[in-house]
Amino acid sequence: MPHRQADVFDPATGAVAKRVALASADDVRTAVEAAAAAFPAWAETTPLNRARVMFRFKELLERHAGDLAAIITAEHGKVLSDARGEVTRGLEVVEFACGIPHLLKGEHSMNVGREVDSWTEYAPLGVVAGITPFNFPAMVPLWMFPVALACGNTFVLKPSERDPSAANFMADLLKQAGLPDGVFNVVHGDKVAVDALLDAPRVQAISFVGSTPIAEYIYARGSANGKRVQALGGAKNHMVVLPDADLDGAVSALLGAGYGSAGERCMAISVAVCVGDATADALVAKLAPKVAALKIGPGCLDPEMGPLVTGAHRDKVRGYVDAGVAEGATLVVDGRGHAVDGHADGFFLGGCLFDRVTPEMTIYREEIFGPVLSVVRVPDFETALALVNAHEYGNGTAIFTRDGGAARAFAHRVQAGMVGVNVPIPVPMAFHSFGGWKRSIFGPLHVHGPDGVRFYTRLKTITARWPDDVRHAEFVMPTMK
Ligand code: NAD
Repeated sequence: MPHRQADVFDPATGAVAKRVALASADDVRTAVEAAAAAFPAWAETTPLNRARVMFRFKELLERHAGDLAAIITAEHGKVLSDARGEVTRGLEVVEFACGIPHLLKGEHSMNVGREVDSWTEYAPLGVVAGITPFNFPAMVPLWMFPVALACGNTFVLKPSERDPSAANFMADLLKQAGLPDGVFNVVHGDKVAVDALLDAPRVQAISFVGSTPIAEYIYARGSANGKRVQALGGAKNHMVVLPDADLDGAVSALLGAGYGSAGERCMAISVAVCVGDATADALVAKLAPKVAALKIGPGCLDPEMGPLVTGAHRDKVRGYVDAGVAEGATLVVDGRGHAVDGHADGFFLGGCLFDRVTPEMTIYREEIFGPVLSVVRVPDFETALALVNAHEYGNGTAIFTRDGGAARAFAHRVQAGMVGVNVPIPVPMAFHSFGGWKRSIFGPLHVHGPDGVRFYTRLKTITARWPDDVRHAEFVMPTMK
């Protein structure tokens, strides 16, 4: 039977550039079987030799970073320098995974009892799967598979069907790096492929990154099938600006964090919470002309902002702007009519800036995932903090201030997984772990860093005695003497 297919667009022109075949449940079974067959030998490959594959993969990724960035820009639309940045952040996880012999060291206790020793080991899980979103077609898979593979697992990646080519490119580099066949597998597809992975008995764990409704579904179905699941969802990241903040610094931060990658980042700032009307007035006055003047064009020309990923997504974002106007927010900069010369059919939208947004409005409550920033005015620090904490999402947040005490109180009391102090997008480095709180994550462990190693391994604790005398049966709960 012929495969179902999906269109892959060039977002800058709006044309269908490619078509991707969507896997059937049988295709997924084939991939999982390949991964299962490759698992025993890969798990027995020493951590040092697994790390050496990662070192070679790192070198290849560095050498081909420009090619991979061009692939990302062609299908996602983000500007080239931003795509390079994505590759760099992914590469850092490969560098982290190169240290796997050290990371897999367990703990050892001598003489937990008389002549009894105890130690821990980290065993790989088996076949694990990654299901990833469109907005980081290289970096988000790289959050997962380098750590999973280095720990001794085999992997099935189901990337977004909207920008599928980066996954194939990385699979090819892994093969060139000497990774044995079957250890890393890519299946392209949609819900059919995802459901087949969720139901496959051989799949031990699922890592998911995407929107919250799907994350919740993945967590529920994967967990019900006995799998370990980490499912990262959507976001509505607030940046609090106190009256004493360096306002020019805050404006620059908001411009990059709100409109970079056309707002299609899970760590984008989509809400600026200004403490005091004077702060809000001054911030909006400085920000508005810069938003209106954003350089927008095809990502390959490396302007400041590219198109959105698809026409459907652009229309959805535009619909949110309409809703904001209808619900009474002040649209200070209206990017809805923005046109790019020679690219009438591209999926472009100009930067939009709302002021006087209130918590009941749709544009405040929901994730827009586009170049739309909302300014909310609050009277004081406590109201700002309570606002951030009351939102259903808790991925990242930031505070801009010169007051160390206020920054410390915010960092300590805020309900979010990643917090920036005068840093608008506080994405943790690869040797820390990335993840949110509240409905931005389902499952206890974040991705990469120490949590990544814990997620992709099972802990085993061994207690050993080498007796040289005859022992009598003991019927009481064993205690060490
Ligand atoms: P999405 O949820 O639509 O898709 C993510 C993945 O799930 C894709 O591989 C897709 O094929 C699959 N999928 C889609 N619908 C499905 C269904 N009904 N059943 C099973 N699988 C399905 O997300 P997206 O639009 O690709 O990405 C944007 C979203 O991802 C945003 O909400 C963003 O905040 C979130 N995101 C979160 C993080 C994070 O770290 N928390 C990082 C990046 C993106």
